[in-house]
Amino acid sequence: MSNQKIKLNAGILGATGMVGQRFITLLADHPYFNISVLAASPSSANKKYSEAVGGRWKMPVSIPDKVKDMIVLDASDVEKVSGMCDFVFSAFEMPGGKEAIKKLEEAYAKTETPVISNTSACRGVSDVPMLITEINSSHVNVIETQRKRLGTKTGFIAVKPNCSIQSYVPMLTPLLKYGIEEVVVSTYQAISGAGKTFDDMPEIIDNIIPYIGGEEEKSEKEPLKIWGSIKDGVIENAKSPMITSQCVRVPVTDGHLATVFIKFADKNDKPSKEEILKLWKEFKGEPQELDLPSAPKQFIHYFEEDNRPQTKPDRDLENGMAIAAGRLREDSAGIFDYKFIGLSHNTLRGAAGGGVLSAELLYKKGFIVKK
Ligand code: NAP
Repeated sequence: MSNQKIKLNAGILGATGMVGQRFITLLADHPYFNISVLAASPSSANKKYSEAVGGRWKMPVSIPDKVKDMIVLDASDVEKVSGMCDFVFSAFEMPGGKEAIKKLEEAYAKTETPVISNTSACRGVSDVPMLITEINSSHVNVIETQRKRLGTKTGFIAVKPNCSIQSYVPMLTPLLKYGIEEVVVSTYQAISGAGKTFDDMPEIIDNIIPYIGGEEEKSEKEPLKIWGSIKDGVIENAKSPMITSQCVRVPVTDGHLATVFIKFADKNDKPSKEEILKLWKEFKGEPQELDLPSAPKQFIHYFEEDNRPQTKPDRDLENGMAIAAGRLREDSAGIFDYKFIGLSHNTLRGAAGGGVLSAELLYKKGFIVKK
């Protein structure tokens, strides 16, 4: 177990973006971590953080005093940035796309700087754990294989999955033992998921946009890695259930809501509604057992009211780290077995908050250490 008295120094790559800003607010007063370096694109480099972010600051609280005057570095200056921190949170875009991001994240890991990433660049790599910490914390054990591949002693990459899947994967997980065969999910996703507010996305006001590039594929495939098992030191994806999805952008600031239909393989061996509600209520994982600072006390909150969960009043449950569920009922048409609604905060649980929780777990388990 790690020594909690000495705070680890954390860097943030993409510190000026929507997710980077969330990291800053979450880490401004964190018991384990201290923000020691901020990095972004060359156009922000060498500016004070408050100047670099300028009018783009989108958080409900003002820029924390301790970062206002920090000089932003160029994220591509790996040696300089990694020399100023014990590990980095990664949430940046890059002109070269996924390949360029992967290359830069691996370059950080190779300087023995662990990378906790919100980007999708390394999600498909079988020795990179993709964590929803309550569900698959055991996947951290593939880090040993990854370190061998990268030739590192302490450096590695761990990633967060796509923000949308936190709205339904937690509720499906404890039901997998009954043999879920098919899942149909539609996600109603907030504009902060695109790094936007109403000011810079006016076309969404009074409107729904029926396409989010790449989102449906991620929503269908990433859960199978989360539910995968470790074989020969790497993650082998689960083969079922089959998931099909539609993802649309809706006019809300934060919070991804999902409508979900599920079908079990054997109608005679499906759980009752009471059994499902009990499984959801009792569902917890290592973050709760270790009492990690960002862990929600109750992972899944079930609402009995027919008109809940709602995006605006329910997305901030337990600091935006808990998952909301409601409207569990049998499918009266008999096409599926059950339907329900799920909701999670996309930039908290689905991005920066989930990243901080992953880092807390990796720190407690001794994977992230003081350099
Ligand atoms: P964003 O608001 O557009 O921010 C992008 C960030 O990347 C900015 O800090 C920007 O810095 C930086 N950047 C741009 N070009 C760069 C370069 N050449 N080198 C280094 N940094 C560069 O995006 P976001 O919504 O925060 O998303 C960031 C990442 O997190 C993306 O990979 C996204 O897929 C992922 N993600 C987002 C969400 C969400 O809910 N928003 C959820 C999960 C995952 P400048 O300000 O200097 O340009």
